[in-house]
Amino acid sequence: MRIILLGPPGSGKGTQAQLLVQRYGIVQLSTGEMLRAAVAAGTPVGLKAKEIMASGSLVPDDVVVGIISDRIDQPDAKNGFILDGFPRTVPQAEALDELLKHKHLKLDAVIELRVNESALLSRVETRVAQMRERGEEVRVDDTPEVLTKRLASYRSQTEPLIHYYSERRKLSTIDGMMAIDEVTRAIHRQLLALGAVEPKTHARSAAKAAPAKKAKAGKKSAKKAVKTAKKAAKSAKTTKKTAKKAVKGTKKAAKKTAKKTVKKTAKKTVKKGSKKGPKKVTKKRAKR
Ligand code: AMP
Repeated sequence: MRIILLGPPGSGKGTQAQLLVQRYGIVQLSTGEMLRAAVAAGTPVGLKAKEIMASGSLVPDDVVVGIISDRIDQPDAKNGFILDGFPRTVPQAEALDELLKHKHLKLDAVIELRVNESALLSRVETRVAQMRERGEEVRVDDTPEVLTKRLASYRSQTEPLIHYYSERRKLSTIDGMMAIDEVTRAIHRQLLALGAVEPKTHARSAAKAAPAKKAKAGKKSAKKAVKTAKKAAKSAKTTKKTAKKAVKGTKKAAKKTAKKTVKKTAKKTVKKGSKKGPKKVTKKRAKR
């Protein structure tokens, strides 16, 4: 399964991506995370991206497209991936279409998390507080000033993607203001409706245990099939019995009717003073 999560900063893309990773056993490809790692490692890409990211602007398209293309080729992405924070511009979306086509891969869905802008600042503030609590380093771009800039760049450069994917019939919009697990359920329902996931996809443990589960399910369905077959055989037997009984009953009834008719006719014949004896008539009629 290959999906894109689309939404402004603070819409819950990262949180949902992690939950979907656990549920479906696929990988999360977050360009923001990859760029932060590159900055921390001081790679050439990191050095290029550092200042741009700190200011809340977007890193050049060719840089992120290159990162994503390489990442998709990694073995752990073969099972599927969730793109979080990519694409962020129409040229990036076009480049993604091209590279997926080149790699013979299909995009299953684009999930847009729609949220009230007024909630975004407080969400990012909560994220910062939680990161501090966990003793994690707080992102340099998680400040009210930079967030305003990131939101502006989302509106002008990323929002056009809603139209882009809607035109291509890939877009599904989910209310991102719901509770976290409700959003996850809504995404799951949407993926089910699109046929991107199988009906019984639960937690990661379930994904890991899939072969065992499948075998169990296979055994179960085999048992069921045997039961059904036995039932069918039983009912066939019953039908046979019923049919036999019915035939017997019909035969009996026929015999009775024949006897009655014979008796009646014999009586009549006797009354009329026929030459033929009643016994002869009885035999003839009974034969009929
Ligand atoms: P994020 O973690 O997705 O909020 O991204 C953090 C920062 O990384 C953004 O503000 C950008 O500067 C940069 N970035 C992440 N993804 C992209 C992208 N697809 N295109 C350009 N810049 C990106």
